Amino acid sequence: MTENIISKLTIDYGSIVKKDAQYVMQTYTRQPISLDNGSGSVVFDTNGREYVDCVAGVAVNNVGHCHPHVVNAIKQQVERLIHVSNLYYTEVQVNLAEQLVSLSNMDNVFFCNSGTEAIEAAMKLARVTTKKTDFVAAENSFHGRTMGALSVTHKEMYRTPFEPLIRDVTFVPYNDADAIANAITESTAAVILEPIQGEGGINVPSDNYLKAVREICDDTDTLLIFDEVQTGFGRTGKWFCKEHFDVKPDVMTMAKSLGGGFPMGAITTRDDISFGKSEHASTFGGSPLACAASLGAIKAIREEKLVERSKKMGEYFKKCLENIKRGDVVEVRGMGLMIGVELNTNCTDIVNYAREHGVLLNCTSDSVIRIAPPLVITKEQIDTVVNVIEQA
Ligand SMILES: *Cc1c(COP(=O)(O)O)cnc(C)c1O
Repeated sequence: MTENIISKLTIDYGSIVKKDAQYVMQTYTRQPISLDNGSGSVVFDTNGREYVDCVAGVAVNNVGHCHPHVVNAIKQQVERLIHVSNLYYTEVQVNLAEQLVSLSNMDNVFFCNSGTEAIEAAMKLARVTTKKTDFVAAENSFHGRTMGALSVTHKEMYRTPFEPLIRDVTFVPYNDADAIANAITESTAAVILEPIQGEGGINVPSDNYLKAVREICDDTDTLLIFDEVQTGFGRTGKWFCKEHFDVKPDVMTMAKSLGGGFPMGAITTRDDISFGKSEHASTFGGSPLACAASLGAIKAIREEKLVERSKKMGEYFKKCLENIKRGDVVEVRGMGLMIGVELNTNCTDIVNYAREHGVLLNCTSDSVIRIAPPLVITKEQIDTVVNVIEQA
């Protein structure tokens, strides 16, 4: 029999919390449950309670929890090779690169391990290829927590304790192309934008915004970076959100759902925008196991038509949410299964009520309920969630 290394499955919730408090840095404000297993859009806690998961690991589990294709891909790969250096070729990595290039309609891939690393790569690439230094980013943006990505992230609370950051960043209001035109100087290497702002409160730009920004960037020889870390892989009802706006960036970042739950990041770029030899590298980027997981996730999205499903279920979900009769709902917005419900109060109470009634929700920007379930969520599960929100 195989020895059970990861868990004796005897430890209760209280002991988990106690160990966490003693041994883990208390960085996170955790919800008071401990999750043990999951399948599709559902997760179970260590007490066996079931939840419909509208957080999905923050827009990570697009294909659902433990999708068989992801599980099988990881199982098959894990017994052949877990890791080798990028000093060598692997077949899984080139196969995934081919798929990502085709899906994103770009030319080249660089692999890394997270969203913030993808942003770092994009920023370094912008500097090294343009020989310019500065960036223009949007107010309410979120691009990650490492020093470079943090420099283009707007939120004061995240930035201030770590200053000085990269100083050559100008923030402009989101959805205002003129502001971008005015902010670009001869030193601007790139404009960096989320095609829909995620952490900033699910902010959808007007139809012509990204097109106008594209033109401004072309006119001024400035690169346009789209951060699709949260919006990618069917989340918004297209493979990538940029397709809604028919705009092609010069560099695109992806992560979150890229590995079907396995940690992974990547950028895709235009052919003429590339790192030279040794200009950037990653020990783990594009590891066999991560690439296998990602191939499994992409296969699942294709076979189950999850992009189309996201669009259809998203429309249904939004319609149901709009019909909720609550005085404190200001607006329901979003695309596909990336939905924000803005309240005129703090949403903590609703998140707590929902959890106690079997639904996991997440709050962003204090007053926006973020709904980003696995794309495999069913109509019945959506009805459950809407009922719970209505009662909350
Ligand atoms: C989550 C997120 C990031 C950071 O990704 P990590 O994997 O947490 O580093 C960057 N950009 C956007 C738009 C995100 O939503």
